[in-house]
Amino acid sequence: MVQSANLGFPRIGAGRELKQVLELFWAGEIHEAELTERLRTLKHNHWNFQQSAGLDWVPVNDFSLYDHVLDTAVMVGAVPERYLACEKPLDVYFAMARGFQGRVKTGAKALDLQALPMRKWFDTNYHYIVPEFHRDQYFKLAAQGPVEEFLEAKQLGIKARPVILGPVSFLLLGKEGGGGSPLHLLARLLPVYEELLSKLHAVGAEWVQVDEPCLVLDLSREAKGAYEVAYRRLCPPAGLKIMLATYFGALEDNLELVMSLPVAGVHADLVRGPTQAERLFNTLPVGMTLSLGVVDGRNVWRTNLDQKLALIKRAITVVGSKRLQIAPSCSLLHVPVDLEMERGLDDEVKPWLAFAKQKVAEVVTLCRAINEGEAASAEEFGAVRSALQARAASTRSRNEKVRERISALKPDMYVREKEFAERREIQAKRLGFPILPTTTIGSFPQTKELRRARAVFKSGASSAAEYQSFLKKEIRKVVAFQEELGLDLLVHGEPERADMVEYFGERLDGFLFTSRGWVQSYGSRCVRPPIIFGDVSRPAPMTVEWATYAQSLTEKPVKGILTGPLTILQWSYVRDDQPRTETGRQIALALRDEVLDLEKAGIKVIQIDEPAVREGLPLRQREHFGYLKWAVDCFKLCSSGVRNETQIHTHMCYSDFNGIIEAISDMDADVISFETSRSKMELLEVFSKYSYPNQIGPGVYDIHSPRIPSADEMADLLRLALKVIPAENIWVNPDCGLKTRSWEEVRAALKEMVQAAAQVRAALSH
Ligand code: GLN
Ligand code: ZN
Repeated sequence: MVQSANLGFPRIGAGRELKQVLELFWAGEIHEAELTERLRTLKHNHWNFQQSAGLDWVPVNDFSLYDHVLDTAVMVGAVPERYLACEKPLDVYFAMARGFQGRVKTGAKALDLQALPMRKWFDTNYHYIVPEFHRDQYFKLAAQGPVEEFLEAKQLGIKARPVILGPVSFLLLGKEGGGGSPLHLLARLLPVYEELLSKLHAVGAEWVQVDEPCLVLDLSREAKGAYEVAYRRLCPPAGLKIMLATYFGALEDNLELVMSLPVAGVHADLVRGPTQAERLFNTLPVGMTLSLGVVDGRNVWRTNLDQKLALIKRAITVVGSKRLQIAPSCSLLHVPVDLEMERGLDDEVKPWLAFAKQKVAEVVTLCRAINEGEAASAEEFGAVRSALQARAASTRSRNEKVRERISALKPDMYVREKEFAERREIQAKRLGFPILPTTTIGSFPQTKELRRARAVFKSGASSAAEYQSFLKKEIRKVVAFQEELGLDLLVHGEPERADMVEYFGERLDGFLFTSRGWVQSYGSRCVRPPIIFGDVSRPAPMTVEWATYAQSLTEKPVKGILTGPLTILQWSYVRDDQPRTETGRQIALALRDEVLDLEKAGIKVIQIDEPAVREGLPLRQREHFGYLKWAVDCFKLCSSGVRNETQIHTHMCYSDFNGIIEAISDMDADVISFETSRSKMELLEVFSKYSYPNQIGPGVYDIHSPRIPSADEMADLLRLALKVIPAENIWVNPDCGLKTRSWEEVRAALKEMVQAAAQVRAALSH
């Protein structure tokens, strides 16, 4: 008998209940008791669904009010002292997650607590709260979430396997004040885990899932040693069984280490790391259980059950069936909840897909086929077969024209005609910018009226012409505003875009949008990634109308703005029937058409936003080179078709450029802008070591904060930039788009920014 298990279920709920309840609570509209009650119902629904779907092991403690890494920090007592001023545990928790400004009670001292930083969870779009440790950090078992959840589930008759984040990954994901590695805290942390595990054992848990995703990374010798120490200590010979869960990649050089640990079971990701299968089967120690992660927890495609069944059978011939579990590759946190909730999804494509609920069913079906014989799930297997055959044969996913164009790509399509040094002269003559030219990143405030007009149009209650004229009015306002302020390079403000990927996906062929396919990005924030199901092409221009309209209103140049190919790819679910690299190239080619149309329509400056280049970097160092080469190629395919006099910009939000600066410079954009103001230009350090040849716009205005920086402050930042970048290469701009700010804030801040540029210019000319 093989057993079925899940590693984690989406928390948000099919109707985004988590978001609604949290936001009501934060707005003070419901009390803690109601919050707890409503979320308990949600959690119980998830448990009951999984149990009745037929899973042998249902995960508990995978739910979280905000984030599981934050939960772990609170559980082990790693709460930075300043937050304790909030007193009530839940207030402390949310202060760490979101910051806190105000008084805990009347008469108390006013608090101004910043949230802990967030970081992307490995290479996903989920953000975790980064735990903060200090050198003398002490830990204690301050909460017992996993134990309580186990008991709660037991009462409901759920066969539960609590999930906890393992001690080594927890430390590696955190940050120590002085900047050193927090691993030296392991000895202090382990007794807390020991206490927790023995409590779980005492209440009757049979298995506990201990997540150690860091085991798929390149590990230092210190980290490998930490794993040995930790699991020798945490694995008592009898009692609670630990399922050491690894995911998001193959174990590779860490496989031997994992197999040598005295854990009762190991979970391996056979979707992201399919090639490790044989090695796993053949080196599995006697008595160790292997959990096969065969259903993709990171993507939305229906599983090829025949293929996975063959893999499971192969495992059985090597290790037998008694020690096998079947599971998704990782937690299902990263996919939407329920395909059945979709209304109006393309009928042809819908049967190709599976969301979390459907994936749980797939795991159960595979298990049943092994345990009860294939006849027992013949119907499910038959349905999948015909859906996948239809997918393979569909003319919707193949566009021969796109394929012909891709195979006809020539090397000269990836390079600008002249080198930057020559282009710069030509562009300078044409554009005539002053030194330290000022610009913005693209979007202007997305006001309530704007969102309302869009919603009304989408609901069909207003005509396209009405919506169009509304948008034009917005553009007129944005252009007039920028002229008045005296900015040098203008934008149209992007009023037509609710989201920088959605807007383009909706206008490109090969993309599909869900109506309810939400996934958690952080806390109550959810995103609804598009699904790329077919060959990508651009049936018609997407932005030309808006850019040319804006340009018609002013003598100054207006920048055309597009979202780049890597960002569109990174923030979508990508088809799994061809290499990702191929899909990236198709998007790049489609966007190249847009770039050329903008140029033809008289747009002299074009910005291609690529905030997701860095986050797409593979988890293993060895794969960085190949990735970066491809990423640069995609960008250049998209941007290099223009004439020398057309200026190409790119924008990257916050990126750690260490290790990728050469690739960034290979992208050969004439100008790059990025976020630097909050870190006081720290990012520019890379540019002092590496002399970046092209022009740079280090952000001087932190758009994530309502604060208005003064001209002097921004001039100071510019002077810092001048220390490492020659004046003739510097642009003056905010950190990112202004869409989340109010008009008052933007008006005040940009006025100061223009002044800051003028101040520094004046000083330079002396
Ligand atoms: N042009 C986009 C904007 O201004 C860029 C957004 C981003 O970098 N995330 O909104
Ligand atoms: Zn940005």
